[in-house]
Amino acid sequence: MMQTEISSCPACQQQLQQGIQPWHRKCRHCSYEGSTLLVDIDVQGDREVLDEALREEGLGDLRQRNFRVLAAEVAARFPDSGGTRPRLLDVGCAHGWFLEATAGHFDVLGIEPDARVAQSAGERGLPVRRGFFPDVLQADERFDVIIFNDVMEHIPDIVSAMQACAHHLSTGGIVVVNAPARTGLLYRVSQAMAALGLPASFDRMWQKGFPSPHVHYLDDASMHLIGARAGLKLVSVRTLPSLSVKGLYARIRYDRTVSAAKAMAVTFILGVAAPALRVLPADIKVWTLRAT
Ligand SMILES: [Zn+2]
Repeated sequence: MMQTEISSCPACQQQLQQGIQPWHRKCRHCSYEGSTLLVDIDVQGDREVLDEALREEGLGDLRQRNFRVLAAEVAARFPDSGGTRPRLLDVGCAHGWFLEATAGHFDVLGIEPDARVAQSAGERGLPVRRGFFPDVLQADERFDVIIFNDVMEHIPDIVSAMQACAHHLSTGGIVVVNAPARTGLLYRVSQAMAALGLPASFDRMWQKGFPSPHVHYLDDASMHLIGARAGLKLVSVRTLPSLSVKGLYARIRYDRTVSAAKAMAVTFILGVAAPALRVLPADIKVWTLRAT
């Protein structure tokens, strides 16, 4: 187990206050929100906490689609010059889908701490190093793109992670952070429900009780400040769709404590609400930063 207690705001460095739940932290001086939830990744590969097959199915449809959008966008920033291919590092690459989506354009490398996930990606021929960023990199390794897909919100020392990015970036390189947004509709609804004494969806948004809970909920202002502390400038922000009805049932069910009946009910309600959610504040944001 890794202790994740953070007492000062990673964005503005002021003291954090307790938020809605005992483990929830808020900054009074800026909009940053964090948690003291414990990260417990299966680095040895000897436990089965969640159903990996269901998890893959649940996240598959939407993630693959978002990955294709992101891959095309990142590739467009580094046009093919006919010379050496640009290098891309995917931190927390999981099953390697983003590596597959970008391998046609970039010289790719993945890092994955979960032993079994890293092994299964490696067995499919993907270049994946097992371990943590930046420990498994050589000091002189440089990348044109360092991307975090649903990863940065799990890294307790986010400032050190961003500083490591700045160190490992090539000249003109970019850091891409794809993560849940504090300003998203689902997060705000869950927050309002928690304030009314119904904390279940708030706990779920933070992935409380999961092996790798969220330790940050980021927004444009906190990304700007955290980036600046690492010498990186926030250059663009975009949103991605967060809801795919097709994968929703499996996604809800992959935490085995949710019954099939309840999962079906939630899937139905969110399925009906899906068209409305597209025009409301996005739950997933992609922040792109560049060395100053
Ligand atoms: Zn702050």
